[in-house]
Amino acid sequence: MKWFGESWGAPCCESDGRVEAPVGDLCVKCELPIMDGDRGFLIPFVDRQEGEPYVTDEPWHFGCFMESVLGPVFRLGTGWWARGMSSKR
Ligand SMILES: [Zn+2]
Repeated sequence: MKWFGESWGAPCCESDGRVEAPVGDLCVKCELPIMDGDRGFLIPFVDRQEGEPYVTDEPWHFGCFMESVLGPVFRLGTGWWARGMSSKR
């Protein structure tokens, strides 16, 4: 799995999937731009253009991705939203 930013100690961070943060690209979930210092994932997204399938890697903030997987439990457990969107995502 491709990831960016500081390691958060998960097994995926021990792989060689670390990539440069896609600064300026919009997070799929919150549609805010990825900023320098953010951490997150690049998740493959399959779409079609003129009938032909293609794959792009779409950025997700760490918190946005985790909330999409775990739901509100992640939000309550970490204070993700309480910290505000200006802190590390
Ligand atoms: Zn986001």
